[in-house]
Amino acid sequence: MTEQAILFDSSRCSGCKACQVACKTWNSLPSPLEKNSQEWNGSLQCPPDLGSNTRLIITFNEGDNGKKYGVNWAFGRRSCMHCTNAACVNVCPSGCLYHDEYGMVTYDAEKCIGCQYCRSACPFDVPRHKGSDDILGGSVVINKCTGCPDRVAHGRKPACVTTCQPGALDFGDRDDMIAIAEERVALLHKKGFDKARVYGKDEMDGCHVIYVLKYGIEQYELPENPKIMGSVNASSKVMKPLTALGFVAVIAGLAVCYISGIGYHRDTMRYDEKKHDVIDVDTGEVIKHIDKEAGER
Ligand code: SF4
Ligand code: SF4
Ligand code: SF4
Repeated sequence: MTEQAILFDSSRCSGCKACQVACKTWNSLPSPLEKNSQEWNGSLQCPPDLGSNTRLIITFNEGDNGKKYGVNWAFGRRSCMHCTNAACVNVCPSGCLYHDEYGMVTYDAEKCIGCQYCRSACPFDVPRHKGSDDILGGSVVINKCTGCPDRVAHGRKPACVTTCQPGALDFGDRDDMIAIAEERVALLHKKGFDKARVYGKDEMDGCHVIYVLKYGIEQYELPENPKIMGSVNASSKVMKPLTALGFVAVIAGLAVCYISGIGYHRDTMRYDEKKHDVIDVDTGEVIKHIDKEAGER
């Protein structure tokens, strides 16, 4: 299977957010929003950020178009970029995150230990974790875009791509998506959008999400030279084996506790209220008599 990629063309996007809804629907992700629950912050971006149940948002940035009325709407896509040199895969100590056969970065939730190193390492601040905002605790498990491998494996496009009416999203061979993006940028330049450019072709050694940025990078709040932070890279070399070792030690400790507990059971006792005796239910023997006046004997 050749490498695949999602193409997002901001110059075709209408900001309808249907892709956000399709992602939630296909992946059975609940919405945290109730009617009027989001405080008005002057932006039509909604929800404002990725979350533990939100893998994709369309960003709304308004730019001054230099005219008396009107703005340059820069609609952006914020989700996993499916990097070739993926910081999240590099730091994950449990092997939960990996590249699939199409080059997309996916994960095995069963292997997630909830350490959240992937979020710290990602230059796009993408991974989120279910349970991390749960004040009652519970297991913390990664949640991020997977590229919909369950659709792609059956010859379908990802859910977000399938739903896009203006054709701002596409999916196919990575080289084809890059060629379409470059052609579109050339057209935008001809139309006077001088800052239009392709993003994701070379970043992080090549992403599997390719952007056409109509207004140039600054209006989309994307990093110009995304990198795995040196400190994360260095610490992952030390921390990754240590965390894995710690994880193994915890499992081993639990196993020892379990094995040493085999065969042990609490005595089953009952209390005779009239005689004030504590009785072993299995044998009927009096284990203890409680003398109300003198205390136990
Ligand atoms: S469905 Fe298409 S047009 Fe609508 S917000 Fe998503 S990318 Fe933009
Ligand atoms: S964008 Fe972040 S989460 Fe996605 S593959 Fe790259 S490093 Fe990993
Ligand atoms: S590829 Fe699938 S998981 Fe990723 S944003 Fe699109 S619908 Fe959501």
